[in-house]
Parts: sequence; C-alpha cells; structure tokens
Amino acid sequence: MRSLVLIGHGSHLNGESASAVYRYAELIRERGLYDEVIEGYWKEDPSLRQVLKTTASTDVTVIPMFISEGYFTETVIPRELGLGHQGPVPPGGVARVLGGRTVRYTLPYGVHPAMTDVIVERAREALPDFSAADTALIVLGHGTTRNENSNRVIYHNAQTLRESGQFAEVHALFLDEDPKVGTWPEVVRAARVVVVPFFASEGWHTLETIPEDMDLSGPVTVFAENPHGPQTVYYAKPVGTHRAVADVILHLAEEASGASTEDGDPDHAHTAAWATVMERARQGLRLGEVLITCQSGVFEIRHALDEGMPGHELQTLVTPEGVRDATRRDEGGHHRPVHTLRNLPRGWRAVLNEADLKRAIHYLYPAVVEETYAHTCHVLRHTPWPTTARRQTGIYAKVQKATPAQVEAVAEDVCGGCLRTRLWAGRKLPHTFFDGVPGGIPCAEACTFLVAEVREEVSGKRGGGHT
Ligand code: SF4
Repeated sequence: MRSLVLIGHGSHLNGESASAVYRYAELIRERGLYDEVIEGYWKEDPSLRQVLKTTASTDVTVIPMFISEGYFTETVIPRELGLGHQGPVPPGGVARVLGGRTVRYTLPYGVHPAMTDVIVERAREALPDFSAADTALIVLGHGTTRNENSNRVIYHNAQTLRESGQFAEVHALFLDEDPKVGTWPEVVRAARVVVVPFFASEGWHTLETIPEDMDLSGPVTVFAENPHGPQTVYYAKPVGTHRAVADVILHLAEEASGASTEDGDPDHAHTAAWATVMERARQGLRLGEVLITCQSGVFEIRHALDEGMPGHELQTLVTPEGVRDATRRDEGGHHRPVHTLRNLPRGWRAVLNEADLKRAIHYLYPAVVEETYAHTCHVLRHTPWPTTARRQTGIYAKVQKATPAQVEAVAEDVCGGCLRTRLWAGRKLPHTFFDGVPGGIPCAEACTFLVAEVREEVSGKRGGGHT
C-alpha cells in the first residue's frame, strides 16, 4: 500500500490558490498507481502539521508542489512535517521514519530535469509554427535576492535549452531581479520571441505583472520599432499548469522510492479511526455541521440544518470532489481555509458509496477523524502556543512577541467561530462526535490562520486583512 502526498502553499484568502494541486491530485488518482493521493497545505486544511496523520499507509512519498527550491521547500515544509531536516534537499530526497510511517520527501517538481521538455512544449503551443532559426526563447522566472537556489532552476533550464540548439537564442530573465524582464528589447535580437513563464500557476504575475513589464497586449504582440528591428512576441502559458507536470510528479515519486519494491502496510491507527467512524455512519452520525445517514449501503451527507428538507430542493452531489467544490466557500462566497470554522454552506446533499464517503469526509473535515480518534485513545499530542510561536520563522517570527493576553484575545475571536476545542490552550474536551457531541473535535495546535491573525495583532493591523 502506498500513499502520495502533494504539498501546496494554499492561501487564507484566495480559494483558487489550491486548484492546481487539486487538479494534479485528480490526474494522478485517475491513473491508479497509488492507493491514495492526498493534498496538504501551508495555509489551508489539512495543514502540514496534520497531513501525514491522514495517510492510510505506512509508505508515504511527499512532493512539494513548488516551482523552485527555496524557503518553503527547504525550511517551512520539512520543519512542519517534522522531518528533522533543514536546508537544501539532496537529489535523492530525504527519508525518515515518522510515527511508524516511512516518509520520503523529494525536491520540488519544478527542478526535475523533465521540466525542460515542459518549457519546450509551452513554447510550441504559443508559436504558430516551430522555427528555431528566427525564434528566441525567454525563460521567465520570478527571481528573489533572498534565495539564490530559487533562480538556479531558471538558469539551468536556459543553459540546457541553449546547448540543445532548438532556439536561435535563449535568455533567462526575471520579474524581481536582474536581468529584469523589462530589458528584453535590448538583449533579444531575433525577430520572433516566445516567452515561457516558469511559474506554478496562472495568477497575478502571469496575467498582469509580466504583460505589463513587457508591454504585451495579448498572446501575440507586434513591436515595430525595437532597437534590433521589428519583433513579434508570443506569450505562453505558465509551465506549472501543463498536464505533463503530472508525469513529472510521478517520475519524482518513483525516483524517491529508489530500488525499493516493497509497499507499506495499512497504518493501524488510521484504519481503526476510520473503521470506527464508518460504523457510526452506518447508524447515522452528526459530525461537525453535517448529518450522515445510511440506507441500504448508500450514504447521504447534508448540512444538519437541512435535515428533513426534500432531496429535490437540495443540490445533489455524487462525488467527493463535488462535495469539496460545493463547500470551498461559505454562503457569502468567501474562501474557507479552516474547514472547522462554523460556516459550512447549506443547500446540498451528497449521495455516496462507502469508499467515496471516506474521501468526502476527508474533504469536509480533513484530519478530524484521525485527530479525534487519537484524542479518544489519549494519544493526541498537544502543542502549547509558546512552542508553536517559537517554531515560526520569516514574517511570522514576530508572533513570538505576542503576550498571552493578546493570543487569548485573538483566539477568543477566531476560535470562537470554530468547532474545534483548543486543547493547546488548556481547554478540556470530555466528549467528541464519537460520543454523540457533533462539535466535539479537538484542536491540538494553533492553526496557521490563527498564527496569521496573531501576527496582525502584534503588528497593530488586525482587521486590516492577512495573507
Ligand atoms: Fe480552530 Fe482556533 Fe484551532 Fe484554528 S486554532 S483550528 S481556528 S480552534
């Protein structure tokens, strides 16, 4: 049995941030090579602290869904997963045994050599024909002066493609550092130019800042009076959204396994937790804000406040992904990064078989089954606030300055709207949803949403938004 975990950044504000990771998880799931494909996020549920608990097997491969090496892949993700590794990840990845699971952590997909072919594919798609003689390629990276590793992949790909002779010229340019993308008319001589953004997803940079910095008016822009003569620029889609990235992820995962041909076993605690919840579900279960019923082996989930409503008055969903998509936003259309906040939208019901029910519950309330079961077995470890605060780095390090009164005030406000009970703050949870208390769900550690809010409080900006 093998589990594959894809780790994305996610966002507290933008519901679309996780879409690319969802999409690749679905593409890989369809191929049936892994017993499960799970997503985890820095800023959404399931969090990096929780995601390994949600894996069903003892053989877990973790792929950072990032375009380059840097702060997240070298510091944040290994730290939050508890890998005991910091700094550059070696080419073969990092392997650890954590809580009985063998966990292999790989380099980010963006640095895999196969991404060079994805750049060429994107260039081909953008060009009306593929004529190397008069076409220059710009491999465009974000660039940052904070971590030179993050740019290495851009220079490496540009050099590889230069040596391949497929283009008349190849340039590596950046948004945020020299050589900047705005200098392209001075450095590119060819009459045709294809620009391939080496970005993970379509977003603000690919849709706005790059076209603005390059003076592009659309997918094809003609410049009649450039220093080296007339030039036509073809603007490609970002590499990170290409279908072939799913193959790159699978290559990485297989390489991480090395010569090992042995699969893992089902994780005992995970199996026991889900066996218990499925047994309850067969009898009818209230879990958080939902009601689960069962008739003749077919399960139905709906918002508990929609109990008794005729089925035809509700939107009927038939897949776990349908449940995920219907519940990603609250009724006001706002993104729900923390799934246990009491803002689950109403108006839907899901009709599912047993296997799909598990995945739907996972999407609705990630890690809740595993953590609540561990709590009932008295093995759920709590992380007090000072430990969480000490672990923070980068822009979040300032939460270490928060006074206990500030943390409590923010938590009262934020966690007051959450189903979970703050065990990390010393609260008690004598009964859980396994005992018939729907909202009886433990919170073992402050989530990143709360950490971000505490940071805002310390900065004197609370109420002004967070990222
Ligand atoms: Fe909910 Fe607060 Fe725990 Fe976050 S820290 S999951 S908001 S109880």
